[in-house]
Amino acid sequence: MNAADGESLAEQFAEIGMVPGVPLQDADLAVLVTCAVRQHAEDRASSHLGVLASWKTMRAGRAIALTGCMAGEHGETLLRRFPQLDYVFDMRESDGFMARMRDLYQGALEGPVPLPGSDRLLAYLPVILGCNEMCTYCIVPFVRGREASRPAAEVEAQARQLVGQGVAEITLLGQNVNSYVAPEDGSGLPELMARVDRVPGLRRLRFLTSHPRNASDRLLDAIAELPTACEHLHLPVQSGSDSCLRRMKREYSVAEYSAVLERARERIPGLGLSTDIIVGFCGETEEEFEATMRMLRQVRFDTVHVQAYSPRPGTAAYRRADDVPLAVKKERLQRVLRLQRRISLERNEALVGTRVQVLVEGVAGDGRAFGRTRQNRVAWILSEARPGEEVSAEVVSASAWQLLAA
Ligand code: SAH
Ligand code: SF4
Repeated sequence: MNAADGESLAEQFAEIGMVPGVPLQDADLAVLVTCAVRQHAEDRASSHLGVLASWKTMRAGRAIALTGCMAGEHGETLLRRFPQLDYVFDMRESDGFMARMRDLYQGALEGPVPLPGSDRLLAYLPVILGCNEMCTYCIVPFVRGREASRPAAEVEAQARQLVGQGVAEITLLGQNVNSYVAPEDGSGLPELMARVDRVPGLRRLRFLTSHPRNASDRLLDAIAELPTACEHLHLPVQSGSDSCLRRMKREYSVAEYSAVLERARERIPGLGLSTDIIVGFCGETEEEFEATMRMLRQVRFDTVHVQAYSPRPGTAAYRRADDVPLAVKKERLQRVLRLQRRISLERNEALVGTRVQVLVEGVAGDGRAFGRTRQNRVAWILSEARPGEEVSAEVVSASAWQLLAA
């Protein structure tokens, strides 16, 4: 979401005549797009602010702006704590900030500048903002607001524009992307995907992130049937224990979640599956954690993103005791990582000898091309290939995190 916000800001800056994305040493303005989902993300933003503070003193006329999820939560406090910080603005209302920049730099601006980086192959396209769920650990609904879907026609027009600029793969984006409802006619994500799928020249279509509760059969059918829709589903489960899921207010049981995956695997041959896990949530017992490990062994995801629970002020869970000691959180994190490394390796090794479709994203210094398969696995290609090419290659070896194909 922040990458998409960064891209959107770059476009808005170019429109008013400011050149986005120049190296920091040449820049007059630095914009920090922040995340508040875990304490670690906030700490990183604070340390970036420290670095930018000394960058600012190196030349007169420099300024620092901050946006993203920390802006809403801590805007006022940040302005007080970091005297070097000049502006804090809400991404949802960036027009006001842009108008201010235009006025401020008026004398130096000469109308819209072309956007650099037209060689972009992959693009994020936000289709729904905010989240209406109330998972007890999560800050997102507080900082990103209620769900608001963009008109399907607008999304389609933007997809056409992106493909026209050379984009081959689009990821439709939302905190809860599968609760998308087109304001025009009430149709959902499957219909929106069908619309974007028809954009001439688009090669691959993905979406991120889905709530298990809204993973309908129609959505699964869309993945199976639409030519550009990639056979990959990222479906965050968070925990493999029903009691923990209830405390998280996730509104599904492990059995319901597993049933969705079963239907997905039935309908979509070769489906790539990934998920998010939180370990050490308030009151997580050893048995509850074991249930998560059991589920991971049963489902056998391709990729698992695991995080230790980080209490977020203002959320419902913040009022409960953060009672799993840090050492236990770390140990559980390592256990998930160890288990998943083995499973990912086994799943990737099973692909040796099969053919995969790789959309080449770049070429490394040593001349080897890399990209991702339709199932979202990272793959290196032994033969020569150029960015933007879609190569069919045979997997010759595999590690837990990537494939080697020739
Ligand atoms: N909308 C998505 C997730 C958005 S947040 C969903 O419903 O799953 C991205 C991920 O950050 C979550 O899946 C969760 O695993 C993690 N996360 C969110 N809040 C967290 C917290 N307080 N502590 C640790 N991890 C958290
Ligand atoms: Fe946060 Fe996702 Fe739950 Fe929304 S659905 S509250 S974004 S974890």
